[in-house]
Amino acid sequence: MKALNADLHCHSTVSDGLLAPADVVRRASANGVELLALTDHDEIGGLAEASAMAAELGLNFVNGVEVSISWGDDQTVHVVGLGVDPGNAQLGIGLEQIRSGRDSRAARMAAELDKVGIHGAYEGALRHVGNPALISRAHFARYIVELGHARDVKSVFDHWLAKGKPGYVDHAWATLEDGLRWIHDAGGIAVIAHPGRYRLSKAERLEMFSAFRDLGGQGIEVISGAHKDDEIAEFASIARKFGFLASRASDFHGPGESWIDLGRLPDLPDDLTPVWSRL
Ligand code: AMP
Ligand code: MN
Ligand code: MN
Ligand code: MN
Repeated sequence: MKALNADLHCHSTVSDGLLAPADVVRRASANGVELLALTDHDEIGGLAEASAMAAELGLNFVNGVEVSISWGDDQTVHVVGLGVDPGNAQLGIGLEQIRSGRDSRAARMAAELDKVGIHGAYEGALRHVGNPALISRAHFARYIVELGHARDVKSVFDHWLAKGKPGYVDHAWATLEDGLRWIHDAGGIAVIAHPGRYRLSKAERLEMFSAFRDLGGQGIEVISGAHKDDEIAEFASIARKFGFLASRASDFHGPGESWIDLGRLPDLPDDLTPVWSRL
């Protein structure tokens, strides 16, 4: 049987994507996506526009969000909530709380970047922001590319914005407990985003998966735009071991800026239970 072309993780201008919510949906549809979730960082403001466009195009749509979480010793972990009710008050208040820390973090980042010769980064990043509440490192990266200091966003992260680099500042996001509670209160399924991207040891990773499962987390992105073949195999085996539902997720941010375009992903291994069987 032909597998469903599901893509359950992507971004719009409401967070750090390059396309408006309706344009993300148009592109997904043109790429043959059959089930789409928009999952902006800490923000659900694009869901109404996206779901209206999906209805117009006859594309099945899932309301989603990608919640920023602090784990352990200043590690950031992202958890995607799928099938959340955007009208849920708990979720709305929780996300607003996470967003409220972003502006002062951005000011601290700009001060650090200034010390290494990248000036005006706060104002420069803001020019790339679609939603002022949602200034992210991706916007700083676009400004630094614009200045001509790097040829692409990825190299900006490698030189300035990744953990340990001069423009990186520590920041407290939501706790895993709070993030999962908000997703669950809103009727959603919690899914660990791009598990291959965290700089955690194997033991720390297992500890994180256990804590996530103990808090009622149910899913993991086995297929992610960020995963290589060996990581797909590794996280498929984690899904089996922990009994997690499996997701398929491009994490698309925009043309030319993402590892993989909407829906252009390998299929899930046959024996795993797709998260969309529960949506
Ligand atoms: P923030 O939520 O402000 O910490 O920004 C995180 C975002 O930065 C991610 O969602 C990606 O959009 C982007 N990002 C993080 N690491 C990289 C990287 N190595 N290359 C390109 N983009 C990245
Ligand atoms: Mn992003
Ligand atoms: Mn992420
Ligand atoms: Mn993402």
